[in-house]
Amino acid sequence: MNIIKILGAYGGTDDGKATTSIQISEKVTIDAGNILNPLGYRARKIDHMFFTHSHYDHIVDLPFFIDAFFLEREEPLHLYGINHTIDVLKKHIFNSAICPDFNIIAQAGGKGPAIVFHEIEAGNEYAADSVRMTPFETNHIVKSVGYVIKKHGKKIMFTSDTYKCGKIWDILNSDETITKLIIETSFPSAYEHLALASGHLTPKLLNEELSHLKRTDVDIYICHIKPKHIDTIKKELRDFERTKNAIVLDDGMEIEL
Ligand SMILES: [Zn+2]
Ligand SMILES: [Zn+2]
Repeated sequence: MNIIKILGAYGGTDDGKATTSIQISEKVTIDAGNILNPLGYRARKIDHMFFTHSHYDHIVDLPFFIDAFFLEREEPLHLYGINHTIDVLKKHIFNSAICPDFNIIAQAGGKGPAIVFHEIEAGNEYAADSVRMTPFETNHIVKSVGYVIKKHGKKIMFTSDTYKCGKIWDILNSDETITKLIIETSFPSAYEHLALASGHLTPKLLNEELSHLKRTDVDIYICHIKPKHIDTIKKELRDFERTKNAIVLDDGMEIEL
């Protein structure tokens, strides 16, 4: 089946929830907010991780993943991100102070270093395993990208963390082969000031944003809800005209493309 799996759907870990991670294929993920817990030993097959941005909730499982499979992996783990994300990973994570620099440490059983960095640019398409990934710029408090994911001829868009962002609607309006959108909604509408300050959306803001979408055939999925606000956000989404049919994602859910 042509599916992607939501390994972590939320913007926080309280109430037993997991943070952002999507498995695109057996070997490819977007973000590493929650890899080891849902996949266990199967996670060792992941060779390519695409990152949206550098925030902790999107990278937290990366050092644990490398540590867990360091002795048995033979191929390097390929890490893809925009310039800012790669810089942050090098300076603030793989710096020997927080985590060993696995970019210069050879794997125990393999050829070359344990990790290899790949700087990517918005608008270019990147191939990994059986999928194609095209990053696009979003509007967050650090430089961040979403991805148009192409798998077996089907396309789905994932925004990751973003505030209002015209690029999302430009792409969806110009490419009718993208039939599904995963977009974030982090805070209830009463927290609009917080959404602005932290670069996130609320149900009210998402409803306004959806007025820019000139299509009615796009399925909308919601992610990155702050767990303590799940009930409020679900109710608000149902109450707004353009978000009432949106599907709220949960950890472990699958989306058929
Ligand atoms: Zn986040
Ligand atoms: Zn973020």
